[in-house]
Amino acid sequence: MTDHPRIPLAGVIGSPVAHSKSPRLHGYWLKKYGIAGHYIPLDVAQKDLPEVIRALPKAGFVGANVTIPHKESVLALADVVTDRAALIGAANTLIFRPDGRIHADNTDGYGFTANLTLNAPSWQPQTGPAAVIGAGGAARAVIASLLEVGVPEIRLTNRTKARAEALRTEFGARVVVYDWVQAANMLEDAATVVNTTALGMVGKPEFRIPLDALSPRAVVTDLVYAPLRTQLLDTAEAMGCTVVDGLGMLLHQAVPGFERWFGVRPEVDQALRDAVLGA
Ligand code: NAP
Repeated sequence: MTDHPRIPLAGVIGSPVAHSKSPRLHGYWLKKYGIAGHYIPLDVAQKDLPEVIRALPKAGFVGANVTIPHKESVLALADVVTDRAALIGAANTLIFRPDGRIHADNTDGYGFTANLTLNAPSWQPQTGPAAVIGAGGAARAVIASLLEVGVPEIRLTNRTKARAEALRTEFGARVVVYDWVQAANMLEDAATVVNTTALGMVGKPEFRIPLDALSPRAVVTDLVYAPLRTQLLDTAEAMGCTVVDGLGMLLHQAVPGFERWFGVRPEVDQALRDAVLGA
C-alpha cells in the first residue's frame, strides 16, 4: 500500500493490440473530464496473462478492458464473474477492487442495445424475429442481449454451422439455426438484422448474402465499423431500412468500465465519434 493518492491507470489487454481504438476513446474522456489518469494498450502473450493480471493492481491499475485473444481465458482468473459475462462466456471489462479482488464483466451486450436504442428510436425488437449472421464471440453477446429485450425468435446462421448449433443448445429454443446457403430466407419479416461476422471489414471478403427479402421496417446494424458504412448498411438504407453503424456499440460498451474506474459516467456524442475516428 502507498500512503499517497495514486494516479489511476487502466488499459486494454490483447495481442496484438496496437489497432485498438480504446486508448483514444478513454483518453478523450480522461481529458474531457479533467481526470489525472491514463489508459494504455497492453500487448500481453497468453502465457503471461495470469502474471500480468495479478501485477497490474499493484502498479496502480484500477481496471482494464480485455480483447482478442484473452476474452474467454480471463474468466478463469477473476474472483467475481457477473451473470452476463458467465452467460456470454467471455469478459471485456475487469475491475480491480480495493480489496484485491478481480471482478469480470461483459459490456458488449449493453453497448449493442444502447447503440440501437439511441440511434434507432423506432426499434421495437419484440415485434418480430431477429436475424443474426455469425456465431463467434460477438454473436454471443448480441444473442444474449436480444433475448433480454424480448425478441420472440432469433434466426441464426454461420459459415460453420456447428458453432450456430452450439449457440442454440446454449441459448435455447428461441434460437433457430439456418443453413449458411439459405441465409437470405431468414431475412423475411425480420424486425432486426445484425451482421456479427467480420465480412465487409477492411481486408476481409464482402458481405454477400442477398438482401432482397429485407423489409423496409427492419432495423439493420453491422458490428463491423471499419469501414463505418459497410455495403450491408448502404444496401439496407437504399431499401428503406433504418441502419445503425457498429462504432456506437464500441463507444457505448466502454461507458460502464470508465464509470467504475474513474468515477464519472462519460457521455457518448458526436465529438467522441470524431475523436475516435481521428477526425
Ligand atoms: P470471432 O469470434 O472470430 O468470429 C468471427 C465470425 O465471423 C464467425 O462467425 C466467423 O464464421 C465469421 N467469419 C469470418 N470470416 C468469414 C468468412 N470469410 N466468411 C463467412 N464468415 C466468416 O470474432 P468476433 O469477436 O465475434 O468479431 C466479429 C466481428 O465483430 C469483427 O469484425 C469485430 O471487429 C466485430 N466486433 C465489433 C464490436 C463493436 O463494438 N462494434 C464488438 C465486437 C466485435 P466461422 O465460425 O465460420 O469462422
